[in-house]
Amino acid sequence: MLRTLLVTGGAGFIGGCFVRLFTGDGRNRIINLDKLTYAGNLDSLLAVSQSPDYHFVCGDIGDRNLLERLLSEHQPDAIVHFAAESHVDRSIDGPRLFLETNVVGTFDLLVEARRYWESLEIEKKNRFRFLHVSTDEVYGSLAMDDPAFSESTPYDPHSPYSASKASSDHFVRAFFHTYGLPTLVTNCSNNYGPYQFPEKLIPLIILNAIEGKPLPVYGDGTNIRDWLFVEDHCRAINRVLDDGIPGQTYTIGGHSERTNIEVVHAICHAVDELCPQLPHVPCSSLIRYVADRPGHDRRYAIDTTKMETDLGWHPIQEFPTGLRQTVKWYLDNMEWVERVTSGSYRRERLGISTGL
Ligand code: NAD
Repeated sequence: MLRTLLVTGGAGFIGGCFVRLFTGDGRNRIINLDKLTYAGNLDSLLAVSQSPDYHFVCGDIGDRNLLERLLSEHQPDAIVHFAAESHVDRSIDGPRLFLETNVVGTFDLLVEARRYWESLEIEKKNRFRFLHVSTDEVYGSLAMDDPAFSESTPYDPHSPYSASKASSDHFVRAFFHTYGLPTLVTNCSNNYGPYQFPEKLIPLIILNAIEGKPLPVYGDGTNIRDWLFVEDHCRAINRVLDDGIPGQTYTIGGHSERTNIEVVHAICHAVDELCPQLPHVPCSSLIRYVADRPGHDRRYAIDTTKMETDLGWHPIQEFPTGLRQTVKWYLDNMEWVERVTSGSYRRERLGISTGL
């Protein structure tokens, strides 16, 4: 029997990967609700857009009337909530939108999810899940010798982005404890892979290296992030959806801690190798250190013991091969890049539905 998933933010980087991986697998019917902000790109979903098991709706998670209609029409078995404002630098320049989308939007979605869930027959009600996709940034920053973040690490967000995600996580947990809504929360480290909007570190550095532009590195480049290939994250979310215990949290990571400058050098190396004809190789000559991001967290690392022992998940992709594959993907998909950088992906949106 097909499972119906209401996916929010499925035109973004991670949600798009989830939709591509799980549409047409004979198991899922996916309703993708996305507002198509600058980060939403239907070009990334061309592979599934004609599938009978996929339906796109352009709309806001804060539009309660639309949510009510969608839930009643499609009767989903689960909501997988990716939609968010996701870029830390943008949250520093304009935090209010992060409060509106990530906190109030998630709250509105929870209210409508609860109303819908309470109306369900007992069997479907027991099966229903609300999975909230969150970030490791809610835990703050680690010193070099601190143990990695785990499900029991206290929250200590430092940026408006992480504060808004932390707040939304708390509302999700509150809806479990107060109303019994069967929620699941995942807190994942930095993702990388194909189709990521080129404002984030890895695609920005790849594209600037290809084009011979400066490669900006915050501070002294020694901040450490843990990196996970986006498909591994989406498989982890699917495992949690299948077998996660309602009310619980799952931390997800790639066992790939790297300083930012190591990541930038690895990208330079891959571009040098794949494009030896570029006039500016070695690309590392383009590296420029720039003023640090305010409140920049030093180090993130994730303890994935619970995901591995309880759910049998582990990351498949090694960082060096995943990074090389990602560099190659951008080189092979310059048309996608061109439509993003020129803005034409926003002007010509194909097949948009604004209702049901
Ligand atoms: P993204 O910015 O690429 O995509 C976000 C998507 O949400 C876009 O398609 C956008 O149009 C949509 N959206 C924004 N506001 C909306 C609204 N009000 N209503 C409906 N849709 C809306 O983000 P991403 O990198 O794919 O991240 C997805 C989720 O995963 C986020 O919740 C983020 O906090 C979390 N996360 C991201 C990372 C990462 O490394 N990118 C790591 C851990 C967790």
